[in-house]
Amino acid sequence: MSTSQLPWPSSTLLPAEWVGVQRLLARCLELNDSGTLPGTLMVVGPPTLGREAFALELAAALVCRDLGGAGCACGACERVRRGVHPDVEIVSVAADKTQISIEQAQGVVENITQLPYEGRRRVFIVDSCHTPPLGGDAASALLKTLEEPPPSVTFVLLAANPRRVLPTIASRAVQLRVPPPSPDELAALVAAAQGCSDERAAELVTAAGGDVELALREGGERLPETLLALEELAAAALAGDGLAILRAAATLKDTPSGIGLATAALLRLAGGAGGAGGERFLDAAAALLAADNRRVVLHLDLESVAVGALAQAAAKRGPAA
Ligand SMILES: [Zn+2]
Repeated sequence: MSTSQLPWPSSTLLPAEWVGVQRLLARCLELNDSGTLPGTLMVVGPPTLGREAFALELAAALVCRDLGGAGCACGACERVRRGVHPDVEIVSVAADKTQISIEQAQGVVENITQLPYEGRRRVFIVDSCHTPPLGGDAASALLKTLEEPPPSVTFVLLAANPRRVLPTIASRAVQLRVPPPSPDELAALVAAAQGCSDERAAELVTAAGGDVELALREGGERLPETLLALEELAAAALAGDGLAILRAAATLKDTPSGIGLATAALLRLAGGAGGAGGERFLDAAAALLAADNRRVVLHLDLESVAVGALAQAAAKRGPAA
């Protein structure tokens, strides 16, 4: 078995097993059987959470000469899953570029009438059709082909948010939304991506406030510890400990989605304290969110607005209230 040529990590294939992904796939294959599958699909969902796996499984089923359907284990379908089947092309940003190039788009258009090399169809997967990476001349070059692909071609455009897709592209595609996974499916994906146990993965997802992209991101494996550290620092900060205020702000700055985590920490403290004690944590969470909004609007520094908000929240109730 040769190595994967996919532009994605191998864990992006796991969602092929997800119930929602399989249901969507079955529906598309029914449409294909009745000859009504649209030639250009826009598959909407966050990256790594099913859209890539769906696109590859659909491509495999459309290409497969054995008519093996979803999950077929024939050699051709396996090659699609490794990104090495000649009839399935993944159009993505080259390693040294930031956008899909006009040459890539022209390459697709110029050979679009070429019949399948060995499969039943040709499938082009565009990752992603947001602008960027797909915009300008490259997008213009593709418009006519996306409008009416030859009968032997299917386009699968991947997008997280249709509003970030050019209207001229979006209007040429039929949108399909990838259903969200169950908590167990998510935990299994995070476990595979972070190389940890399912229990630990469930802990990561909880610590990330259900934000799986955050749990999957680099540094995500430290979330539970960061959340605990922030809880301790926030409790000390609101008791008037100046050093804790500075350290909490520094931790926020160095953590992806730091404000979100700090808010989660304060909400947990509020839940634990209850009553009037809990209120001060809720006030602090509100102050932090308001400060973060100001920061975004006024382009302020995260660390200094966090120090300001926490110091203000601590002063409001007096030291060690
Ligand atoms: Zn097959």
